[in-house]
Amino acid sequence: MRQRLVVGNWKMHTTLSEALILATSLRNSISEVGGVRVVLCPPFPWIVPVAEILTHRPSHLKLGAQDAYYKEEGAVTGAVSAAMLRGIVDYVIVGHSERRRIFKESSTLVNEKVHAVIKQGMTAILAVGELTRVHHQEKRHHGRPTRTEARSDITTQLEEGLEGISKKEVGQIAIAYEPVWAVGTGQAADGVYANHIAELIRKWLTRRFGASLAGEIPILYGGSVTSENVEEFSGQPELDGVLAGGSSLKAKEFTALCHAFAR
Ligand code: PEP
Repeated sequence: MRQRLVVGNWKMHTTLSEALILATSLRNSISEVGGVRVVLCPPFPWIVPVAEILTHRPSHLKLGAQDAYYKEEGAVTGAVSAAMLRGIVDYVIVGHSERRRIFKESSTLVNEKVHAVIKQGMTAILAVGELTRVHHQEKRHHGRPTRTEARSDITTQLEEGLEGISKKEVGQIAIAYEPVWAVGTGQAADGVYANHIAELIRKWLTRRFGASLAGEIPILYGGSVTSENVEEFSGQPELDGVLAGGSSLKAKEFTALCHAFAR
């Protein structure tokens, strides 16, 4: 049975004290949610203090990082390597659209990061999503590109992001389908559309790794998920969880997302 995952991406939010309060309150509320793995991704400087405050956390509550650099060490000012995160977090988000857009991350770099995260024994949550937001928003109803257009963007990102990943590494991969037009906009995709794209992703993974291994890779949806719309996604057969930004900063809200995916 595929792992269900709910990931909270705190982005560049929270002070240290806010982060500790949020983590403490989630430790308590998540203890009661079964059948789903919950991953908190605080900003880099708060990861260790959050880990300390979560020392006695339930085993299904994990820590993650929002990014990791692929080189193990060296003259790379401002970067945090996957090697440094080893033993502190279990998951790393790689290729988030904000990294691709703001930091101009290339697909080659994203691929190198995926390899580094896996090499260090963690799971890479590879974010993919159609890139054509402005063009399509001008032209199309609600800014949603057609499925065919979305498919070609996503296929390219999967091919490039997972290049060189072997079958034995598949257990260390999760895919987050995050249409760029839905991230942080308050305009979530509808569940049927997100499920359809997840099916396309699963088909691609099946061609690449075979049905049995592909069937084990969690596929998440991300983009303006809230407690109000989460049932749209938790009710879809191909979606194994969600990656939430804004909603992960409020304990009650985020706990509601976790409950929606609890078995
Ligand atoms: C994200 O950070 O990946 C995200 C989906 O953000 P939001 O939930 O705020 O749209």
